[in-house]
Amino acid sequence: MKIIFLGAPGAGKGTQAEILSERLGIPTISTGAIIREAIRTGTEMGKAAKKYTEAGELVPDTVVIGIIRERLAQPDCEKGFILDGFPRTVPQAEALDSMGVVPDLVISLEVSDAAIVERMSGRRVCEKCGASYHVKYKPSGKGEICEKCGAALTVRRDDAPEVVQSRLAVYHETTEPLKEFYARKGLLRTVEGQEKLEDTTARTLAVLEG
Ligand code: AMP
Repeated sequence: MKIIFLGAPGAGKGTQAEILSERLGIPTISTGAIIREAIRTGTEMGKAAKKYTEAGELVPDTVVIGIIRERLAQPDCEKGFILDGFPRTVPQAEALDSMGVVPDLVISLEVSDAAIVERMSGRRVCEKCGASYHVKYKPSGKGEICEKCGAALTVRRDDAPEVVQSRLAVYHETTEPLKEFYARKGLLRTVEGQEKLEDTTARTLAVLEG
């Protein structure tokens, strides 16, 4: 099973992808998480990507396509995978095509810009293990401490309100056209993001089973 999640930053792609990943026993691949880890550990790729992510801009296609090519070649992807945050541009989607990767399903998680801005302000991430939380919708059982690894939770730098605005603009201009790209292939399904994440999960599972 190969699933792609589309949707604005903060729409809940990562959370839903993680839930499906456990249910289906296939890995979730998040280019954002791979890039954040590279920035944290100071690799060459991380150093090159930092200025883009901090400004809310996309990292160049060649870089992310390289990341995905390498990651999909790993043995744990043989049975399938869920892509969270890739592709984000038409050239990235075309690169997937040319790698011979044909998704079974592309799920677009729809959330209004106003709700995105509200959600981003409550988002928290564990700098150590990358787990993500939300103070209202998905709180850690340990407050501002990661319940998985015990490290402190922080606000992602690119979740600052002014950066969120530019990320939303990039989403509408560059990523949203992918809905049309996959609709034309008959692969696109839409899920309206709900206030409660378990309600969104129920709708996502219904799409998967339907
Ligand atoms: P995310 O965690 O998916 O919101 O990604 C965080 C940041 O990583 C984005 O704002 C981009 O700067 C970068 N990034 C992640 N995935 C991609 C991608 N497919 N193409 C370009 N940049 C990406």
